Amino acid sequence: MDSRYAELASGYNGFGCGGCDDLCCNGVFVHFTLIEHFYLAEGFRKLPPGKREDLLRRARQYNEAYSRVSSPEAKFRMPCPLNEDPLCLFYQYRPVLCRVYGLPGRLRAAGGRIQEFKGCWRFEKDRGSGKREYLDRTPYYSRLANLEKELREKLVYFQRYRKTVAQMLLDEKRPEALIMRTYDFFEGY
Ligand code: SF4
Repeated sequence: MDSRYAELASGYNGFGCGGCDDLCCNGVFVHFTLIEHFYLAEGFRKLPPGKREDLLRRARQYNEAYSRVSSPEAKFRMPCPLNEDPLCLFYQYRPVLCRVYGLPGRLRAAGGRIQEFKGCWRFEKDRGSGKREYLDRTPYYSRLANLEKELREKLVYFQRYRKTVAQMLLDEKRPEALIMRTYDFFEGY
């Protein structure tokens, strides 16, 4: 996915995030797979203890502010706890949505329906209505879904999963974090 993204971006005159004054990492991204959670946790556990505490503090601040806003996905803006001026501290471990964001994308659903995603605001501003090549997310999402299925079967875990990066980080302090919750409000934090 990363190499295909880079290939497409180079075709768009090396489109990238450098110099952008509206950091997309300030928006709310919600993630849906355990496998992304565990991969992020792998990156987290490699950090020295002081840095981990620092990130947990930022995650707590983020989550407290996030929990106060109704419809946060539409209204809430705050830098992701993993964002450091303006880079992602966990670039290698970042979730899939962070990897595909920016370029216009396409996804073929199981029934054959094609869903299209616009590029980020800067991409759309720079490209206007010009011809565009889409990042086909289908093979990557399908591989991710297969890995997720395999993992869940091994863990015997079939509950819905829905978390922000801040919540994933906070789960490091909550061993029961993956246990089912039947409510979404505040996500139990
Ligand atoms: S995980 Fe990294 S790329 Fe994704 S929103 Fe956070 S800082 Fe940005």
